[in-house]
Amino acid sequence: MFLQNTLKSSTSLSGIGLHSGKSVKINFLPATTDTGICFIRADLKHRPCVKLEANKVKSTQLATTLDFENYKISTVEHCLAALYAMGIDNLYIEVFGEEMPILDGSSKIFVKIFNKAGVLEQNKIKPYICVQKTFVEKLGNSYAKVEPYNGLRISCDIDFPHPKILKQSLDLEIDRHSFDKEISGARTFGFIDQVEQLKKQGLVLGGSLDNAVVLTSTDILNKEGLRFPDEFVRHKILDAIGDLAILGQPLLAHITLYKPGHALMNQLLKSLLALPTFYDIKERASALDT
Ligand SMILES: [Zn+2]
Repeated sequence: MFLQNTLKSSTSLSGIGLHSGKSVKINFLPATTDTGICFIRADLKHRPCVKLEANKVKSTQLATTLDFENYKISTVEHCLAALYAMGIDNLYIEVFGEEMPILDGSSKIFVKIFNKAGVLEQNKIKPYICVQKTFVEKLGNSYAKVEPYNGLRISCDIDFPHPKILKQSLDLEIDRHSFDKEISGARTFGFIDQVEQLKKQGLVLGGSLDNAVVLTSTDILNKEGLRFPDEFVRHKILDAIGDLAILGQPLLAHITLYKPGHALMNQLLKSLLALPTFYDIKERASALDT
C-alpha cells in the first residue's frame, strides 16, 4: 500500500529565472491529503492558484509554463521532476514572480531542500494513473512508446550531431533514490549560437555557465566539464519526468523515448487522457500483491 506524502516542514529558496533574469522567492508549504500540487502567484494581491490536474493538460506550453487566466508561472519542470520522483503529492508552492528560479540548471537543489524539510507520509492511499494498453506517439522523427508497468521506468535514446553528445542511451527505474543519484544533478544545456539569438528576443536573460551546460559547435564551454559523461540524456529524462508530473498524479508505465522534447511529452499526455480505456485510476500493487 502506497500512501500520499507532503513535506514535514515548510522550506523556501530564491534564485534568478532563466528567461527573465529576475530574482524570485519560493515558499513550499505542507498540505493536507488530496490537496495536490498547487502553485500560487503570491506576488499578486488576489493570489491566483492553479492545481496540477490531468484534465488541465491543455497546450504544449504547459510543460514549462502553467497558465492562470491572465498570469503564468514558467520553468516549473525541474522543481516538478524532483517532487514527482520524491513521491510528494500534496504541497502549496508560493511563487513571488512569474518564473521559477533556474538554480544550477538541474533538480539537485530542489531535492536537497525537500530532503532537509523531510517527507511526511499521510494517512490516505495514493491514487495512480495506471496505463492499461500499449500505445506509440510520434512527432517528427521522435517517438514515445507507453506500456503497462507496475512502477515508472524510462528508457531514453538521444542522437545529436554534436561531437560532445552524439548517441546516448539510458534505461532507469525511476524512484526517489535513482532520481537523486542518477538524474537530479543533470543540467539543462544549450548551444552558444542559439543563446545569442534568444537573448535578442528577451529570452534566457538569466542564462549563464552557472546554470547550464553551454556548447560551441565542437566543444563545451563550462570549465568544470560535465557531471556525467552522458549528462545530456540524463537531463532529457529529468525533463520527461517534469512533463509527466503535469498529470498531477503519479503514472504507472514503462516509457521508451527516442529524441524526446516537451512537445512530444505533452502529445503523449493528451493521447493517454483522451482515451479512458488507456488507463485506470487505482492504487499501486505492492511487490507482495503481484
Ligand atoms: Zn530541463
